[in-house]
Amino acid sequence: MTPFDYSRATDVADAVRLGTNRDAAFLGGGTNIVDLMRETVARPGRLVDVTGISDAITETEDGGVRIGASVRNTALAADAVIRARYPMLSRAILAGASAQIRNMATVGGNLLQRTRCTYFYDTDGSRCNKRAPGTGCDAREGFNRIHAILGASDACVATHPSDMCVALAALDAVVHVQAPGGARTLAFGDLHRLPGDRPDLDTILEPGELITAIELPPSAIAINSTYRKVRDRASYAFALISVAAALEMDGDRIADVRIAFGGVAHKPWRASKAEAALRGGPATDAAFRAAAAAEFADARPLAHNAFKPELATRSLAAVLADLTKGELA
Ligand SMILES: Cc1cc2nc3c(=O)[nH]c(=O)nc-3n(C[C@H](O)[C@H](O)[C@H](O)COP(=O)(O)OP(=O)(O)OC[C@H]3O[C@@H](n4cnc5c(N)ncnc54)[C@H](O)[C@@H]3O)c2cc1C
Ligand code: SF4
Repeated sequence: MTPFDYSRATDVADAVRLGTNRDAAFLGGGTNIVDLMRETVARPGRLVDVTGISDAITETEDGGVRIGASVRNTALAADAVIRARYPMLSRAILAGASAQIRNMATVGGNLLQRTRCTYFYDTDGSRCNKRAPGTGCDAREGFNRIHAILGASDACVATHPSDMCVALAALDAVVHVQAPGGARTLAFGDLHRLPGDRPDLDTILEPGELITAIELPPSAIAINSTYRKVRDRASYAFALISVAAALEMDGDRIADVRIAFGGVAHKPWRASKAEAALRGGPATDAAFRAAAAAEFADARPLAHNAFKPELATRSLAAVLADLTKGELA
């Protein structure tokens, strides 16, 4: 057992002040960081509990929604406005973990949960550049069924594990961050990094920066949206592939579309090439498959995950077919 201090922040300023301590870490629901501490992957000297400081879901003046970082996953998935106006987000959250974990897990913690690469958690002999920079990557030549096919590097082929984040990527969410020097906002797509030669860094956040809220912009297209997750078990399993998509039709043509994939990269993957291929075109199975082919043209599957591009293609085609029916009905 590695000793650590525990403090409960009273507000954002208090959390940021306590978080400047060099070896401090913020504590949301603890469903990831406590496991990491048990396995000695993380060794913070102080946990700053931020669960009590920003737990409101409020509609913004421009018609969007602001979600406090301490909002529990269950509360967000059940929120009436989210269910009606951003159904892909509610469905993505409910596809993750278990009811008990969702009751504990917070929005801020979900964004910053770490990869589920088994070598990352195995401190008893596995080489992992993310956990111990410069040691190597045992997943590259090891069992890499759940690993990345896009945007990976020689140093790391891990995937980002969150379901919620895939929907947030498709919804163009904005992340509100508070640092000791002031507040800033980030486009959601800029929060998480590709591994490059620094896989130890999951995001562009500086040490001590606190996520205070997520903002969803107003979005007419999000009303006709959904999330599909393909995994090895019906529950309590991370995505092999997941798709968040929204579709707006104009007659029999696609007026607009939003797509993001989970389970394919070190970050939630916004599928800009697939979206561009679909806009203005027909909503046919051939068009859906061609769009997926454009997105996965650069895919580099590993020994055990060559099935992923085709699984992603079929998942996208099925989701878009469902949304097309909903829109035309
Ligand atoms: C068995 C199991 C199955 C799971 N299955 C899934 C799944 O299928 N899909 C899925 O998406 N997730 C899954 N999860 C992961 C779960 O969703 C995450 O553990 C959870 O979302 C993390 O939230 P938390 O509040 O508990 O974070 P914590 O564990 O408290 O923190 C996680 C990280 O976020 C940091 N942090 C927390 N709050 C803030 C903040 N406000 N600002 C800055 N940093 C912060 C912490 O310092 C830590 O580094 C599973 C977890 C378990 C244990
Ligand atoms: S894929 Fe990344 S997290 Fe997994 S062993 Fe390699 S370096 Fe570590």
